[in-house]
Amino acid sequence: MGGGFAVLEGREGQVSEAGEGPSELVCGKPSLAGSVSQRACVFCGSRVVLYPVADAVHLVHGPVGCAAYTWDIRGAVSTGPQLHRLSFSTDLRETDVVFGGEKRLYASLSALILEHAPRAAFVYSTCIVGLIGDDVAAVCRQVSRERGIPVLPVHSEGFKGTKKDGYRAACDALSALIGTAESDPASYRGESGVAGSPYSINILGEFNLAGEAWIIRRYYERMGIRVQSVMTGDGRVDEIRGAHRARLNVVQCSGSMTYLAKDMKERYGIPFIQVSYFGIDDMAEALYAVATAFPEEPALAERAAVIVAEELAQALPALKAFRKDLEGMRAAIYVGGAFKARSLVKALRLIGVETVLVGSQTGNADDYRNLSALCDPGTIIVDDSNPAELSRFLQLKGANVFIGGVKERPIAYKLGIGFCDHNHERKIPLAGFEGMVNFAREVHASATSPVWKLLAGHGRSGEAVS
Ligand code: SF4
Repeated sequence: MGGGFAVLEGREGQVSEAGEGPSELVCGKPSLAGSVSQRACVFCGSRVVLYPVADAVHLVHGPVGCAAYTWDIRGAVSTGPQLHRLSFSTDLRETDVVFGGEKRLYASLSALILEHAPRAAFVYSTCIVGLIGDDVAAVCRQVSRERGIPVLPVHSEGFKGTKKDGYRAACDALSALIGTAESDPASYRGESGVAGSPYSINILGEFNLAGEAWIIRRYYERMGIRVQSVMTGDGRVDEIRGAHRARLNVVQCSGSMTYLAKDMKERYGIPFIQVSYFGIDDMAEALYAVATAFPEEPALAERAAVIVAEELAQALPALKAFRKDLEGMRAAIYVGGAFKARSLVKALRLIGVETVLVGSQTGNADDYRNLSALCDPGTIIVDDSNPAELSRFLQLKGANVFIGGVKERPIAYKLGIGFCDHNHERKIPLAGFEGMVNFAREVHASATSPVWKLLAGHGRSGEAVS
C-alpha cells in the first residue's frame, strides 16, 4: 500500500498523501515491469528536447516504428524553417540487424543533407542500435567532415533508463554544439531595439508549443533583454552554437535542461536560474528573477513591473469570471515534469479549483517534497503512475477535470471527466499571462461542459467515492 492506496507490489513508496508527514517519495527508478507506465522511453525524452530545432535534420536510426513519434502529434512551431516537421528514419530491417546498420545510416544521412541543406543533423540511437552496436558517433564524425556541418549523435537507446536519461542525451548533443561558433549580432531575430543589449539570456526548456516561446521572448525583450537563443523552441542551430556568449541561462523545464545549465556554468561560467512561465505568480516571478540577475541595471526591474501591471489588468477580470463557475471544483494533474505541476497547482488555486491528485513521469525528491508542502492535506502525490492507478485515484477523489497529455486524455474521457491538454501536443498557448487566461478558459470549458450531465450515473465522478 502506498499512502493507504492499493498499488502494484513494488510501487508502494511512489505514492503518498500531502500532510501524511515528512516521508520521502521514491522516484527516479525504472518503471515496474507490467505497470504499463505513462512514461515515454529514453529516445522520446531526447526527441522532445531536440526536435524543435527547426533548421536541423532529425534522423531516427532504428526501425520505422520508433519514428512514429512525429511533429504531427507535437506542437512546436517555427517562424521560418520547417525541417523539424519532417520525420526521417533509417528504417532498419532484419538484414541490418544481422549485418549492422552503419552503411544505411551513412547513406541516409548523406542523402538527407544533400537534399535539405540543414544547418546541422541530429542522429537518434534507438533500442535496436544499442543492441547491434553500430558506431553511430563514428558515422556522424565522417559525415560531418564530408558535408561540413555539425552531425550530432544522440545516445538515446530506448531501453537504457528512463525518459530523464533521454533529456540528458539531448543535453549532451546540445553541449557539443554550443561554443562551436560566434553569433552575428546583425542576424538577431527578435526586437531590433535589444539586438545590442548587454543583458543577454538563453531560454532553456521552452519548446515553443503553440507559440509560447514567442510570448515569453516578447516579455523579456520589452524589458530590454536580448535573447541569444531559445533551447529549443523555434530553435536555430547558429544561435545555439553561439549560446556560450549569453550572460544568464533561464531554465524552465527543470527536468530536461538543468543538466545543460549546470554544464554551461562549469564550462563557460554562465549562471542559471530556474523559473516557470505557467500561472501569473510564477510568470511575474520569472521576469523579476531575470531583472534581479542584472542588478547593475535597475530599469530592467522597473520595466518588468510595468509589464506585470499591464498584463494583470488584462488577465484578472477574465480569470475572475471563470472562477465564479469553477469555485469548489477538483482537479487532477499528471504531467511530464513535477516543476510544472507546482505551477499548475497554484494556477488552479487562483481560479478556485482544488488539486486532489498530482503526479509526474520524471519528478525528483525535491520536486515531490515541494509539491507535498504546497498541496492541501489529503492530495495524492504519485511518481511514474499507470492508467489503473490514475483511474482509481480520479474516482476516489471525485476529480472534475484531469490535466495531462495524450496518454491521460482517454483515461479522463472514459471516466466522464473534463480534460485539459497541458502536454507537448497542445495547440493553444498556456504560458505567460495570456496563457493563464487560455488555461482557465480550457479548464472551464471542459469541466462545465453539459456533456457530463448525460453521463450521470455512468461513472461520472462529480462526487467523491467513499
Ligand atoms: S522503446 Fe526502443 S523500440 Fe520503443 S520507441 Fe523507444 S527506442 Fe524505439
